[in-house]
Amino acid sequence: MFNALVVRKDEESGKTSAQVEEVSVDQLPEGEVLVAVDYSTVNYKDGLCIGPGGGLVRSYPHVPGIDFAGTVEASEDARYKPGDKVVLTGWRVGENRWGGYAQKARVKADMLVPLPEGLTTRQAMAVGTAGLTAMLAVMALEDQGITDGPVLVTGAAGGVGSVATAILAKLGHQVAAVTGRPEQADYLTGLGASEIIARDELTEVTRKPLEAERWGGCVDAVAGAMLGRVLKQMQYGSSVAAIGLAGGAAIDGALITPFILRGVNLLGIDSVMQPYDNRVRAWQRIASDLPMDKLEAMVQPATLSDLPGLGRDILKGQVKGRVVVDVNA
Ligand code: NDP
Repeated sequence: MFNALVVRKDEESGKTSAQVEEVSVDQLPEGEVLVAVDYSTVNYKDGLCIGPGGGLVRSYPHVPGIDFAGTVEASEDARYKPGDKVVLTGWRVGENRWGGYAQKARVKADMLVPLPEGLTTRQAMAVGTAGLTAMLAVMALEDQGITDGPVLVTGAAGGVGSVATAILAKLGHQVAAVTGRPEQADYLTGLGASEIIARDELTEVTRKPLEAERWGGCVDAVAGAMLGRVLKQMQYGSSVAAIGLAGGAAIDGALITPFILRGVNLLGIDSVMQPYDNRVRAWQRIASDLPMDKLEAMVQPATLSDLPGLGRDILKGQVKGRVVVDVNA
């Protein structure tokens, strides 16, 4: 038996509740690889799945946790042997099958990536799904070409924003970090941001077709009014990597003009269905391009029993950086 955070649903009231329970290996989903989990994390989707599910959870009881890192305990697949360190993100693990908020997880071998050289399982989860997404966003911007101006990061004090800020700064870009939490300015400067921009400055919806060119690239975690506005300020030929919708699912006030008159690219980034080679390449870039000393500043440690509260906090946009869950603590 081992510990897991189990979400149960009361069929009559439809209400969900989450608590730490003992479960057995037989209850885990089918898969070729059994992993002894070291760490998992708290992402926006986890907040949804710890609560009523937001349409992501297929059946109850459910164990959330959309990412984890740990050690292979048993494997029926030749690619993995006991003792190998592995990391998992995506594949809807923690959504429609049991995930990483448990001391053991069983998954298909195709879902795993070997832990890259130089990263510990704790560091891998300090990065986690949010950090992998940040890296994929930076790689997408690089593929299109980052122009001369500062690179804007929105939702900067959140998980994706924090890692994107640190990576871009390490790569030598000027980073303008947008936050609705002015008290996080020192934190963001510490990650390498050269300029802090108040959220309000970029959320006013205007009717102007274009504004002065400001940004050489953008990693956008919030969409909504901010993305509509930012598109009008992108430099000629620059790109926005859109990764999230913390500020709304629409692009408020957006016009076609930035795309036609300035050749702006809007790149959608999805970390869930990334092909194996891309995931391996992104993890290798993380190991080489993410300043590990900065990573520690982003980490808030947690245990399985802290998760119900943290799930509520991340949905309110109140979590700073990355929450790393030690499932064995
Ligand atoms: P966090 O909650 O850690 O960060 C989101 C940040 O957005 C907050 O910290 C806050 O930053 C800002 N924010 C919150 N609400 C608003 C608002 N109403 N208007 C403007 N800004 C707001 O989440 P993550 O960084 O983990 O994820 C961010 C988004 O990316 C989510 O929508 C998530 O679902 C999505 N995501 C997508 C992935 C993909 O594969 N495409 C993978 C991972 C996440 P601040 O306080 O600094 O303003």
